[in-house]
Amino acid sequence: MFERLRIYNFGFEYPKGSTISFGKETSRSKGHVVFRLPGEERVFVSWGQLDSISQKFGTPEAHAAHSLSKLSNAKGLREVRLITKAVANVNGHAAVLTHIAVDSAGPISKSRNREIRALHLHCEDSGRFFILNESCVTGSPVDSPRVFAKLQESFVCH
Ligand SMILES: [Zn+2]
Repeated sequence: MFERLRIYNFGFEYPKGSTISFGKETSRSKGHVVFRLPGEERVFVSWGQLDSISQKFGTPEAHAAHSLSKLSNAKGLREVRLITKAVANVNGHAAVLTHIAVDSAGPISKSRNREIRALHLHCEDSGRFFILNESCVTGSPVDSPRVFAKLQESFVCH
């Protein structure tokens, strides 16, 4: 079951039963919201102004590549591997979808292997970018592909 959230003129459907927390300084032009699902699954949605990033990564492709390299350099991760990358039409924009495997196995880390699904979208109509991220433990009982597909197909940005 899914419910719709709509704020600042964007919206999407998230799994019913999620605990929702907003970033401290959330505004129309910048912010993030986190959905905690039962278990260890998380959905993060962040947004910001397009002109704040256009110099560094002006396309969703470049933006997605930047996020991947940031993740690859994060501490405590043994391996970050891109499984698939694709372009999809989301609310009229060519968005970049990535599916990433993260191996964080270590003696002090309680985390197990994770999978991350991400969507990078640049919305010229509203002057904002959006990043949707779903992170789940490999083998989680939550149907992650379905949750992410629902986010993607229901996403409205302008
Ligand atoms: Zn848009």
